[in-house]
Amino acid sequence: AVNRTVHPEDTVVNAGGVPIVNGMFQVIAGPCSVESEEQIIEVARSVKASGATMLRGGAFKPRTSPYAFMGLGEEGLQLLLAAKRETGLPVVTEVMNQTQLPLFDDIDVIQVGARNMQNFDLLREVGRYNKPVLLKRGLANTLEELLMSAEYIMSGGNSQVILCERGIRTFETSTRNTLDLSAVPLLKQKTHLPVIVDPSHAAGIQTLVAPLARAAVAVGADGLMIETHNDPAQALSDGAQSLNLVQFKELMKDLKRRIDFE
Ligand code: PEP
Ligand code: MN
Repeated sequence: AVNRTVHPEDTVVNAGGVPIVNGMFQVIAGPCSVESEEQIIEVARSVKASGATMLRGGAFKPRTSPYAFMGLGEEGLQLLLAAKRETGLPVVTEVMNQTQLPLFDDIDVIQVGARNMQNFDLLREVGRYNKPVLLKRGLANTLEELLMSAEYIMSGGNSQVILCERGIRTFETSTRNTLDLSAVPLLKQKTHLPVIVDPSHAAGIQTLVAPLARAAVAVGADGLMIETHNDPAQALSDGAQSLNLVQFKELMKDLKRRIDFE
């Protein structure tokens, strides 16, 4: 069960050898979308050198417009795995529906995106799969609903779940979403699962990513997911919120003054 009163010990999620757990701090970085072999390998090498411990990159993308770039699909997964072989970084990428799951055998962590947080068939299927799941909070979902979605996964036998606060829809339009910082300490009181923050999708604006990342550290997050691109202006998705490689390096330098990374 997700509930801390039933299960008081902190869950350690083993993300391809990287422990994601209360008391440690991991940074997942990488582009919104995998775009080419050169792109993902350049980003992977650079974020690793800056201190990231996991690589992200979308291959199946949930885009608002059906005419937008949808990701490279299976080829994108292969390129992500090439970047993993090159750098040793474990990889996380989004699954959009259960028919894609057989393609994810070599992926370290499966991401269930905000738009699928209450896709109960998908939750049940990843719950039967023996692989960690990064579950993102839905755009308009309460914390109780997020915890119930984690419960769906865990009730299938998979207790390796990471929760991710990525901003929620509010009346405010000057940011893409509103980062709900209270979610972090509240979730950590209610559950033993690790909680990370994605300031990139919360903000939608590159200049807000570092301040929100610092805020996430201050409220006790167990890690961050930061969209990072070698050339944000040319990115095929989410360029406006992506840090470039130098900005990511600077952010990591700043965070290292605040947290013990081991
Ligand atoms: C993503 O991580 O690229 C993504 C689509 O995030 P979310 O599901 O939080 O919008
Ligand atoms: Mn994105």
